[in-house]
Amino acid sequence: AMAEKGAACRAPPDVDTDECLREYRHLFSPDILAGQVAFITGGGSGIGFRIAEIFMRHGCRTVIASRNLQRVLEASKKLVAATGQQCLPLSMDVRQPQTIVAAVEEALKEFKQIDILVNGAAGNFLCPASALSFNAFKTVIDIDTIGTFNTSKVLFEKYFRDHGGVIVNITATLSYRGQALQVHAGSAKAAIDAMTRHLAVEWGPNKIRVNSLAPGPITGTEGYRRLGGRFAEESSHFDTIPLQRAGNKTEIAHSTLYLASCLSSYVTGTTLVVDGGSWLTSANNFPAMLDFWAAGANKNQ
Ligand code: NAP
Repeated sequence: AMAEKGAACRAPPDVDTDECLREYRHLFSPDILAGQVAFITGGGSGIGFRIAEIFMRHGCRTVIASRNLQRVLEASKKLVAATGQQCLPLSMDVRQPQTIVAAVEEALKEFKQIDILVNGAAGNFLCPASALSFNAFKTVIDIDTIGTFNTSKVLFEKYFRDHGGVIVNITATLSYRGQALQVHAGSAKAAIDAMTRHLAVEWGPNKIRVNSLAPGPITGTEGYRRLGGRFAEESSHFDTIPLQRAGNKTEIAHSTLYLASCLSSYVTGTTLVVDGGSWLTSANNFPAMLDFWAAGANKNQ
């Protein structure tokens, strides 16, 4: 089966909801994260949920943390049932350092170690700069950029400084070509990619690797729903990207697994783009996006 023609570009099976995979075939060694603990912000939904699942299927225990306790509680039940690994759901807001400190202390009390941090918490929506409020821009910077710094710094102080660790920041390709209607998220994620390099330089001597992973359009996510994924499907948009399809959450989780594991032991300070080549060729038509937004995408916020 491994030698099947085209297998290297074929999407693994996925489900569009925040449910665990019905079937899973290991491609990496199933024990590649055995004995490890990952702290995943935004782990209760979408990409973060699937990252937690795939990590757990590779022997990792997880902490999934976001604002909505009910969401992470329900997610953790599904994750434990599907994988048989431990998962600790915690409520915290990446904009409030005290809540991060409390969550990390709770996680360390439970697991005694944290080896991996995935910064996945973020907020996004489509909006032209001209209609974006001062507060909306600030909120996205607060959650994405400052939230990533806050969480990384707390993990550094509480554990990574003395024990080493791995940080994977989930970013985006939005800034590479100035994606229309995305000045807020594009700016926020570009700053995280910069942060990735700064922290890789300063924390490398502590045996901490820091990398970014920039997904393209990923099905079965809030991002896909809010940012016009269906519109893109209907307008045959995906025909124009090199791999001619959107990606799925399992594909992002697999690339995150690579960055979080010993497979990437000499990789730090980089951004791994996981987008099927999308940013190179996909549309960035401001008037067309403005029409789409005016027609109702803005009601989604
Ligand atoms: P999602 O399901 O909405 O995930 C975002 C998560 O962040 C939620 O679980 C949310 O949980 C959490 N969160 C939001 N604000 C928070 C805060 N202040 N403190 C703590 N947690 C917070 O969206 P997704 O589409 O899967 O996106 C996941 C990541 O991938 C994001 O970083 C996104 O920018 C990136 N990305 C996604 C795509 C895509 O196509 N979907 C493309 C490029 C990049 P609570 O509401 O419970 O706090």
